[in-house]
Amino acid sequence: MSYVFAPAPVVAVPVVGSSEKFAVRRIYCVGRNYAAHAREMGHDPDREPPFFFGKPADAVVYVAPGETGNFPYPSQSRNVHFEMELVAAIGKAGKDIVVDRALDHVYGYALGLDMTRRDPQAEAKKLGRPWDTAKGFDHSAPLGPIHPVATAGHIDKGAIWLTVNSEEKQRSDVADLIWSIPETVAYLSSLFELQPGDLIFTGTPEGVGAVAKGDVMIGGVDGLGEFSVRVV
Ligand code: MN
Repeated sequence: MSYVFAPAPVVAVPVVGSSEKFAVRRIYCVGRNYAAHAREMGHDPDREPPFFFGKPADAVVYVAPGETGNFPYPSQSRNVHFEMELVAAIGKAGKDIVVDRALDHVYGYALGLDMTRRDPQAEAKKLGRPWDTAKGFDHSAPLGPIHPVATAGHIDKGAIWLTVNSEEKQRSDVADLIWSIPETVAYLSSLFELQPGDLIFTGTPEGVGAVAKGDVMIGGVDGLGEFSVRVV
């Protein structure tokens, strides 16, 4: 087989404790999955069904532990926000997965930032337009390595936090997710057949805010360590 252009490289990130990498297929993101964040965005945190948006796989910027990754400030925006999130990595295909079996499909977990151009997002909300330019832009998904369940276990509670220039901005607990990881996997699999390599950004807690060039964000989740990303 030959192609008119060289195929795009496979997007892949390291797996902790392994020489093999996790190849990324799709990135799904959950909106408003912590009540206090739903409130700060002007919404009622009542348990409405989860909603999803996406990012392209090549929006991933791998951030190695102990190093500082780079997030290039995107053009066409003056209000770019951090959203620190726990990411679930799918390792087994499935559709219409039941909640009780959903964790069987999770290969591991990672730290992720759902970087967001808040100004076009606000415009899109007002006009009923899609969120792609707000959420799916280049470099919008800084991501740490995948921690496999086989060694790290499942994560259903524990602190999630983010600092900017050493000042704490976000702090919550994964136990406060409105839709838990198993519920999210089950619901998402009723909309899309999940495949190994899919990532699910599970939502951000309260405290989101803007960054500027030069800022250094450090985010973490209990059990997954921390990562560091500089806005450039
Ligand atoms: Mn988010």
